Order: sequence, then structure tokens, then C-alpha cells
Amino acid sequence: MEKKEKILVDLTADSDDDEALPDPKAIPAESAPQSEKKFKIGTEWGEIIDKKPADVVVTSVGWKTLGVPYKYTFSELVETSGGLSDTLLSWGTPAQDIYVDCRALKDDNVKRLLMHTGFHVDIMEAVVKHRNFRNLVKQTKDLAKRCKEEGRATSIMAVCTSGAHRSVILAEALAFCFRKDGHEVVGPSHLSWCSWKDRKLCWTCERCKDEKKREQLHGIVYEMWKSA
Ligand SMILES: [Zn+2]
Repeated sequence: MEKKEKILVDLTADSDDDEALPDPKAIPAESAPQSEKKFKIGTEWGEIIDKKPADVVVTSVGWKTLGVPYKYTFSELVETSGGLSDTLLSWGTPAQDIYVDCRALKDDNVKRLLMHTGFHVDIMEAVVKHRNFRNLVKQTKDLAKRCKEEGRATSIMAVCTSGAHRSVILAEALAFCFRKDGHEVVGPSHLSWCSWKDRKLCWTCERCKDEKKREQLHGIVYEMWKSA
């Protein structure tokens, strides 16, 4: 079988990985929030089932929740033997076309809110307005275009440390932009959600469910996307 080329949106120089979180082991029985009803997430580490044909598949994941060893550089984190790509493969998630390094989207001003997930609109706003966000959106768009020119469906995985905030926000935003451009999108599917409940994170409070604010922020992202 022909090996797919992996492309990395790598912001290692701006990245950090000091986000403290307990080591999640238990898998909650309760189902995670899903932004899209066309697919289901399995009970084991985000296995995607019932996948419909699409031109774009978007996922988010936290390397730490999968027990992947820490690496400073993004390419090592993803591609080292036993790294993110290998680990996901062992859980049944195929190699992705594009991996996006969201570790560089950290904002200490929202540290007090990290018991919520990336659905919290104040965290979302901080990430969307982060100085590195536009660059990530632009690079991802360029790479996705390249995949499309090669005539293949594009799988994009947003990667951060805990898989609950930065990567969730970028994945939601990318899926929004692709859909708005008329693409058939599966996802975003948040592969680290299994750990959210164990870590007692919130995705159901008023600010995590503020659809009006979310819509406004996605509008800002789409402007960046269009001008990228
Ligand atoms: Zn919340």
C-alpha cells in the first residue's frame, strides 16, 4: 500500500507543554458532546465508526491523554516510533494527511477557566485572538488545498496537550470554515473526550453552550480563513 505523505503545521518554536493534568485512565460510559450527528464515536479512544464519505475529516486529540511520550518538536511528537501517529494507529485511527500543532495557542489569561473545555466561549475567544491562530488557519488551508489538488479526501488532526481546549477550538473552527465553503465534512470528532469526564471538565455550562457567541467567533475565524 502506498504510504501517505504526512504534513505538519509545526509551530514548535512557539509551543509549550506545561499544561498540568491528571493521567486519565477510566473511560466514561457517557457519550461526549458531538457537533455533528452524522457519525458516532466509539467507546474506545475516539474510534470513528459509521463514517460517511466526505472530502474533509476533522479531529482533535491531546497527545498526553494517549500516553504518547513528550517530545519538544512537533515532528518528533507525531512521527517518532511509538509517537502520536503510531499510538493512534494502534487504536484504529489511520494516519492523517495533516497534523496541526495547536500547542502554540496557549493563553495564561484563561488558566482559571481550564476546568471547562474548548467549548467555553471565553477560552475560545482567547484562542481565536491568539497571535498564532491566524497563521495556523492559513497554513492548514494551504496544505488542505494541496491535498485537494492531489485529488484525495483530506484528514486533518488538531493536536494539543490535553485534547480539551486548543485543539478542540481549532478543529471546531476548521470544520466550520470547510462547511461554509461547501465541503462535505465529517467531524469534528474530539478523540480525547474520554478523558474529559475523568478530569471533571465542563462542556455544559451556560458559557460552554453560548451558541450566539460561538457563532460570532466562528464568523471572525471565517474572515481569517477567507483572507488566508
Ligand atoms: Zn463550562
